[in-house]
Amino acid sequence: MRWGLRPSGPGAAALARNLWVPPRLPSRAGWRGTARRLLVRSVTGASNQLQNSNNGGYRDTVLLPQTSFPMKLLGRQQPDTELEIQQVRPRLCAARGVGPREGGPTRPGATPGGPTPRAGGTGPQAPGPCGRRGKCGFSELYSWQRERKVKTEFCLHDGPPYANGDPHVGHALNKILKDIANRYHMMRGSKIHFVPGWDCHGLPIEIKVLSELGAKAQNLSAVEIREKARSFAKAAIEKQKSAFIRWGIMADWNNCYYTFDGSYEARQLRIFYQMYDKGLIYRSYKPVFWSPSSRTALAEAELEYNPEHVSRSIYVKFPLSKPSPKLASLIDGSSPVSFLVWTTQPWTIPANQAVCYMPEAKYAVVKCSKSGDLYILAADKVTSVAPVLETTFEVISTFSGVDLESGTCIHPLIPEKVSPLLPANHVTMTKGTGLVHTAPAHGMEDYSVASQHNLSTDCLVDEDGVFTDVAGPELQNKAVLEEGTDVVIKMLQAAKNLLKEEKLVHSYPYDWRTKKPVVIRASKQWFVKLTDLKTTAKELLKKVKFIPGAALNGMVEMMDRRPYWCISRQRVWGVPIPVFHHKTKDEFLINSQTIEHIVKLVEQHGSDVWWTLPPEQLLPKEVLSEVGGPDALEYVPGQDILDIWFDSGTSWSYVLPGKDQLGGWFQSSLLTSVAARKKAPFKTVVVHGFTLGEKGEKMSKSLGNVIDPDVVINGGQDQTKEPPYGADVLRWWVAESNVFTEVTISPSVLNAAGDDISKLRNTLRFLLGNVAGFNPETDSIPVNNMYIIDQYMLHLLQDLANKITDSYKQYDFGKVVRLLRAFYTRELSNFYFSIIKDRLYCENGDDPKRRSCQTALAEILDVIVRSFAPILPHLAEEVFQHIPYTKEPKSVFRTGWINTSSIWKKPGLEEAMESACAMRDSFLGSIPGKNAVEYKVMIVIEPGLLFEIIEMLQAEETSSTSQLNELMMASETTLLSQEPQALAADVIERKGTFLINLEGGDIREESSYKVIVMPTTKEKCPRCWKYTAESSETLCPRCAEVVRGK
Ligand SMILES: [Zn+2]
Repeated sequence: MRWGLRPSGPGAAALARNLWVPPRLPSRAGWRGTARRLLVRSVTGASNQLQNSNNGGYRDTVLLPQTSFPMKLLGRQQPDTELEIQQVRPRLCAARGVGPREGGPTRPGATPGGPTPRAGGTGPQAPGPCGRRGKCGFSELYSWQRERKVKTEFCLHDGPPYANGDPHVGHALNKILKDIANRYHMMRGSKIHFVPGWDCHGLPIEIKVLSELGAKAQNLSAVEIREKARSFAKAAIEKQKSAFIRWGIMADWNNCYYTFDGSYEARQLRIFYQMYDKGLIYRSYKPVFWSPSSRTALAEAELEYNPEHVSRSIYVKFPLSKPSPKLASLIDGSSPVSFLVWTTQPWTIPANQAVCYMPEAKYAVVKCSKSGDLYILAADKVTSVAPVLETTFEVISTFSGVDLESGTCIHPLIPEKVSPLLPANHVTMTKGTGLVHTAPAHGMEDYSVASQHNLSTDCLVDEDGVFTDVAGPELQNKAVLEEGTDVVIKMLQAAKNLLKEEKLVHSYPYDWRTKKPVVIRASKQWFVKLTDLKTTAKELLKKVKFIPGAALNGMVEMMDRRPYWCISRQRVWGVPIPVFHHKTKDEFLINSQTIEHIVKLVEQHGSDVWWTLPPEQLLPKEVLSEVGGPDALEYVPGQDILDIWFDSGTSWSYVLPGKDQLGGWFQSSLLTSVAARKKAPFKTVVVHGFTLGEKGEKMSKSLGNVIDPDVVINGGQDQTKEPPYGADVLRWWVAESNVFTEVTISPSVLNAAGDDISKLRNTLRFLLGNVAGFNPETDSIPVNNMYIIDQYMLHLLQDLANKITDSYKQYDFGKVVRLLRAFYTRELSNFYFSIIKDRLYCENGDDPKRRSCQTALAEILDVIVRSFAPILPHLAEEVFQHIPYTKEPKSVFRTGWINTSSIWKKPGLEEAMESACAMRDSFLGSIPGKNAVEYKVMIVIEPGLLFEIIEMLQAEETSSTSQLNELMMASETTLLSQEPQALAADVIERKGTFLINLEGGDIREESSYKVIVMPTTKEKCPRCWKYTAESSETLCPRCAEVVRGK
């Protein structure tokens, strides 16, 4: 039997007029199926129509869909079903005595999809076959796939989340993205390596612990603080880990890595020494970003710029001390002369050591109309500075910057102190006066000028951000950013060197943890030299694939901004910098022997030994004897710990960090890996954004827009407002989001995700219900013998599968969602399912026409389930266990990726289906709101290619059973190449044209057609409800034949 090109034999016709939509009315329960003798519910509006009608005599002859797959999961059913699939509640299933059979009888009055949930109940209500669900081995999947003998490994390195606080949607975004990638690659046959880890050290934990302890914290020893920090981190890890497992993340949960493990710390100390030994790590006195609120140095990655910061900016006079020869020739000595300087950080003025200028710029001597004084500033700044100082400047003369060389000025606060004028290339004309106040202890560029010219780099500010006694009695003990600034300004005023003070709103660095402003302050720190590393790292980065590509630039830019990486922190919760300092001299001790000794100790006992063991035990015997022996030890262990970014390991090939981490963990792992083994630690980098509220606002407790993943899964206090969605909704949201930018989340976004999944569930239920009694091995119809519309669906399906696979490859999970959603709503629900119901329900069970359709449905089901399985693993497993013909193992994840056949690809069918659909649209559009089966339709096409194509769908002139009539969903369809002679007056006529485009444009032919619509003259068949019967009491010929054959 061939329907492919020249149809013969009876076609089929459509039943339902309405486009298929998920039914809203509860379906009548208890319809007795024929094949399995099980009580099941029906699926669709069409079946309701059949059941509710007075066709009782024929009801048992109609093949309604059968499946125990629930149409809807209500209330707790969604999360509970997921838990059963994860098999974490097996005892509950056993206690309820639900055996491994296909669903249970439905109680009268039950809502579709299962019994009404008990109010406030927490027990499992889903009537599903939970006994079967455990069989998918959800929680053993990771170990199962590790044991597979496969060649390729997909290694995704888990950039560790911080062991601090509750699991949040940012974690969900990161972990679920990784899981989708992992599950996809696993289904494609790779062995997945995914070992989750936690970043357990560092300031945020230390600060939290200390703030919880309050005043008591003052008296705690380093070891006590570390103990409390460790238990805090452990509690957070447990909470996060169980949430990640609940989200369905497939990983090696029994072998996670923790940066506070001794073995981890020991490895890190080895890398430190390796880098030190290569000269990549050094100790130096340098200005670094310093957080007074955390009392420690910070790396640039730990800064957050506040664009709303308000500084007190000032214009200050630096009186001329000794003019350069050129300057001397320009002034006559009749008026006082000063250099004009502008700064946003008045508190750094006491530390001033020089004033810098731009050698190639032009400078001017101006006369101030207000004071009569002479000022020197950049010629370009004359017109903009005068109005700020509420005066006018008369330019006396101009000269080149180089002519300032060898001149000096007087420190505005210390009359006896002279500050030299120095050339510097960091001076710009964008802001200020073109003359730059230079305090080497408080600026990176200032420091480099100072090292060139041997200026003092003494720091007048201590760890708390407070002036030391060296700053003088007026300033001592005053916080530089608060009272200190105020006093400096008053002192400048008193010295008559302040010209103007104004508020300036600008972007200023803050400590990202304490949210307080930082200062730049010189201190002795440990640094990684980045100059050489950067070049190699950038070279290696060229071989790394970045998704999106622009992320590479961000990474390189960030690296370019860092001349060095400050890796020492003045805290206790971390890995110690393994050096010993001399008690009196500025010397330290570190060598391969000391490191080996410490590494062994740390491997065995953890890094606590640094604080618990006496110093003499931290040194190996041979070294100890060289440095004074146990009794006269000249060295003490250093008190600095390593930056937590240094806590990262070195063996990863895939990363998915948050954007903020481009500068942090991500870069530190690159740099340590490049330093240690000249290799980038990853091959592909996927960068995702942060999660934001609905309107793109940041999520914060004060805004009340924080969304707790646990509430998304299990519902909130008021479950009418915050229903329990289950983890799959959370996962769908993640996949759907455009993760390459900022990701928004809100109740309406989640609700929409829930709706999407409901619609998908209905699609799946239709598919499952209609493959009942079908065995692909024995009942499949060869593709070329299938109905054209069924072949066309397979054609669309292979195209969909290719696109879905490509999108997964590109980590574009949002595209996967969009493709799938369009397919199951448009191609399936609204189109295909609405057309095939009559064939499925009213033909004989094993009629090849019906089997053709079931063949397509089974393939569609398989492709759809595999397509969404990485995103919705729970739903995929649930569906898989309801597929009537599935064999062991009953897990979609253990049976590979989508497998489509190239013979499904039939581009020629597109012309046939699209042209027929154009006529169908004309027909349906001409009878809006009416039932198509009450009409017969006449299609007139002039002889030619289009006629021949349509003829493939209907060989006979008039038919109520042809493929064409099935597509039209009419009572009968007549296909003509000439207009009929006479037509009744009340017929509706529609005209149209269709452009056939075959063989890649070689064959193009435009044809016109006419669709003529008239009411049917037949009666409604009591079995199939089509208007194809001679009387309302007799069956139509097709139904008569089917029933007779039973
Ligand atoms: Zn009938």
